Amino acid sequence: MGTTIENIVRMMRLTGDTLRFDETYPGLRMVDQIAAADKIIRFKSIIRMDDGSTGIFQCYRVQHSDILGPYKGGTRLHPEVDMDDVKALATLMTLKTALVEIPFGGGKGGIAVDPKKLTTNELERLIRKYTVRLLDDIGPNRDIPAPDVNSGEREMAWIYDEYRKHKELARGVVTGKPVELGGSLGRREATGNGVAIVTMEAAKEAGMNHFTVSIEGFGAVGKYAALALSQRGIRVVAVSDSGGMVADANGLDIPALLAHKSKTGGVSGFGRTSPKEEIAAYPADVFIPCALGNSVTSQNAVSVKAKMIVEGANAPLALDVEPDLARRGINVIPDILANAGGVVVSYYEWVQNREGFYWEEDEVNTRLADKMIKSYQKVSRYSKDRGLSLRQAAYCIAMERVAKGAQARGVQ
Ligand code: NAP
Repeated sequence: MGTTIENIVRMMRLTGDTLRFDETYPGLRMVDQIAAADKIIRFKSIIRMDDGSTGIFQCYRVQHSDILGPYKGGTRLHPEVDMDDVKALATLMTLKTALVEIPFGGGKGGIAVDPKKLTTNELERLIRKYTVRLLDDIGPNRDIPAPDVNSGEREMAWIYDEYRKHKELARGVVTGKPVELGGSLGRREATGNGVAIVTMEAAKEAGMNHFTVSIEGFGAVGKYAALALSQRGIRVVAVSDSGGMVADANGLDIPALLAHKSKTGGVSGFGRTSPKEEIAAYPADVFIPCALGNSVTSQNAVSVKAKMIVEGANAPLALDVEPDLARRGINVIPDILANAGGVVVSYYEWVQNREGFYWEEDEVNTRLADKMIKSYQKVSRYSKDRGLSLRQAAYCIAMERVAKGAQARGVQ
């Protein structure tokens, strides 16, 4: 994912030129100020493995910007995580929170580990060690971690518990916690629900009443996007995970596929199974990548048959493929808009933790839908008015907001 951060900064510079930042905010080198991370934390965690050996893991937390509020962003557990990945993901969080107008900045964490190769006890020791190293950097008003690839409620509970042990009882130190520890109803499904809401809005605007969908990745984002779309009567015709792809042109039975995945650990075997790489080329009107970054590259972009790509994952498209997709009339709904539902409900969770008053699930979902629809309409209108792509429009809106915040705060 090494080039992603360069692509994001390139896009930010382009946006700065479009908005004429240096003329609008004289005296501030605005793009430089917004693009560079505030603080980069890198350390190694050494833990005792169950067999008595030691495991050494590279750990990261990037605090990108707190111009609009505390740093906010997930914690990725993946063997290929590196500093460039974490910087890119933290930058996207700054843009995402600004775009959907929630009072957070952007951050991201990561540990270079394959959690599937660790026992539960080893993983718990690693997450607790990671948390202890970050005790002075995180907190409900400073930096608030959340789930990302391969981390979820269990890991957030460990971070919360470790923080509580050493610092204070502060439920808002992480979001995406179990409901019993102050997590929000609806948070588990929020990113996927948000992806589904934005997909429906974009399809409606494009005049697509009946359409089919293919989804890459069947984890926290992909499975709930699939479920929410199928509940809206949309045919999900292909789904993949790290083990393979399953497809049915008449529409997969998503609740049954969810049950199959939770029983067997994968989607493979739910009917005829093909290599996971075939998902991008599978014929569907909308393709929703919900796995890792850079899954659509110059190699496989030519085979995409969809009319629309909705970025459920962060940075799933290599930016150099976008001009070609645009020429072919393939509309791209950018990550900072499409997958913002998770951080929106994380914000609702943080608000509930501060209030000590917990909302019904319906209230969470209604507020989420309202936020996602308004955000989509805002980006769509901006792009049409100025003849920009949806990604450029989303970047412009987000960077303008961060810039206004920076200008209002002033420079000493
Ligand atoms: P997750 O729960 O760990 O799920 C990731 C899914 O991708 C898993 O189903 C995994 O397969 C699958 N996968 C991995 N490599 C694949 C490949 N080569 N081909 C097809 N599938 C593959 O992670 P997540 O939380 O859903 O995150 C997915 C993406 O959404 C990431 O880019 C993340 O940054 C972004 N995102 C997440 C959230 C959130 O709230 N979680 C919010 C915003 C954005 P297995 O199931 O076989 O492991």
